[in-house]
Amino acid sequence: LEEQFRQAQKMEAVGRLAGGVAHDFNNLLTVINGYCDIILPEVPPESPDHDALTAIRDAGERAAALTSQLLAFSRKAIVAPQVLDLNEVVGLSEKLLRRLIGEDITLTSVLTPNACRIKADPVQLDQVIMNLAVNARDAMPTGGRLTIETKLVQVRDSDPLVSAGLRPGRCVELAVRDTGCGMSPEVLSKLFEPFFTTKGLGKGTGLGLAVVHGIVKQADGHVSVMSSVGGGTTFHVLFPEVLPAVHEGDGLPKSGIRRGT
Ligand code: ADP
Repeated sequence: LEEQFRQAQKMEAVGRLAGGVAHDFNNLLTVINGYCDIILPEVPPESPDHDALTAIRDAGERAAALTSQLLAFSRKAIVAPQVLDLNEVVGLSEKLLRRLIGEDITLTSVLTPNACRIKADPVQLDQVIMNLAVNARDAMPTGGRLTIETKLVQVRDSDPLVSAGLRPGRCVELAVRDTGCGMSPEVLSKLFEPFFTTKGLGKGTGLGLAVVHGIVKQADGHVSVMSSVGGGTTFHVLFPEVLPAVHEGDGLPKSGIRRGT
């Protein structure tokens, strides 16, 4: 527990720092990228300046992507949780997921026929799914299978997850499974730390899973991982189930998901 508390404090400090830096960087990058976009079309493609400007613009875009991850990591104030059905969220993200993972990876979703009501911010929930899917994709450079599963599970008082902070009772589970390279115990032990990445300079930010962890915790959920080198990886994300009776009038729309209303 002490370790968890220290980790939470560290995350909060890093988050605050990262958020402040990201905000200022964002303003500066808007200037850099904006001027690049204006000048670039005016420079003839055969000029060496064109290559230099293209490199500046590419680096600027990469920096902007990193900043937006940093902002997502520290953005705690503007979450808008609402009751939504995880099955619908997964269904809606399937098209984008397919594009994201490419043609060499097969996407299968196995959704429970039961309603999967949870209370979460829909934008953040998308981010959880996308971050887990991108990691799965990166773990399968020569192709494989990505499976997204939803189900209802009962968390009992005696469950070790309860001592890890999860409320006992019915939970909605999101499982994201890949047939990729898997992880060593050493990587597994650092997985959720901000800025931990094995993807090399310019490729990974090391923030994807820290963001996932933060979002899930905020929704009173829990995230765990099972992985072995060469044996693929499964992330299990649990959210407390929202009972329909308790939330009458705050319930789900007949179709689709309310976003930011
Ligand atoms: P990033 O993706 O930017 O590296 P993450 O926090 O998302 O940052 O992931 C941290 C590290 O965890 C990755 O660099 C990778 O080594 C490992 N990892 C995460 N997901 C998987 C997975 N599905 N399979 C194998 N390794 C993974």
